Amino acid sequence: MDKIALRDKFSSEYAKYYQVNLFEKEGFIRKNCSNCNNNFWTSDNSRLTCPEQPCEQYGFIGNSSLKKLDYAESWMAIEKYFVNHGHASVSRYPVVARWRPDLYFTIASIVNFQRIEGGKVSFEFPENPLIVPQMCLRFNDIENVGISGKHFTSFVMIGQHCVANNTGYWKDKCIELDYGLLTQVFGIPKKEIVFKEDVWIGYGAFGYSLEYFVRGLELGNAVFTEF
Ligand SMILES: [Zn+2]
Repeated sequence: MDKIALRDKFSSEYAKYYQVNLFEKEGFIRKNCSNCNNNFWTSDNSRLTCPEQPCEQYGFIGNSSLKKLDYAESWMAIEKYFVNHGHASVSRYPVVARWRPDLYFTIASIVNFQRIEGGKVSFEFPENPLIVPQMCLRFNDIENVGISGKHFTSFVMIGQHCVANNTGYWKDKCIELDYGLLTQVFGIPKKEIVFKEDVWIGYGAFGYSLEYFVRGLELGNAVFTEF
């Protein structure tokens, strides 16, 4: 099953997979993009299109009313918030992928915790829940770097990882925490936050995900690898 078919499957049962408690509590409603047919959740009744390009262009350049944070301040604000909410802050891992024989470089924070042996993957988390400021290297967009203004060969992915056992949590709390970060720490107005229904397929696991956008920019992707 390809990604689009899988997303259609999850979206056909959206109440089971995507409808987290926060949506009801905060009055987010489900809509279907009039341009591309993607499904999304918003508290803005007048919104017609999904928050992803090409349906929405960046709306923050030269037009920000929020407090400016530099690179390090952003990480420190996020770290403080998650540590205050019971997460361990873990140092970043090497950019060379140690335990993924199919990868040279760490392309996402989840790679830190995957252990592959004999083609089978297991996960090894040093803490639960945790956050990690992981430097990632990706070279698949290299020809666009310096041209599009939005492609890079490296970036820091702030990984929020949690196993839903007795010390961890699952989607309701995850989205509540992420929403709290956006609204309380960054002061982003609720109306500007849009969650898009999506799927994630990784090594040995897959699941549904809620990508969240503000003014056309993806700020995070909450992935729930239930399968
Ligand atoms: Zn759209």
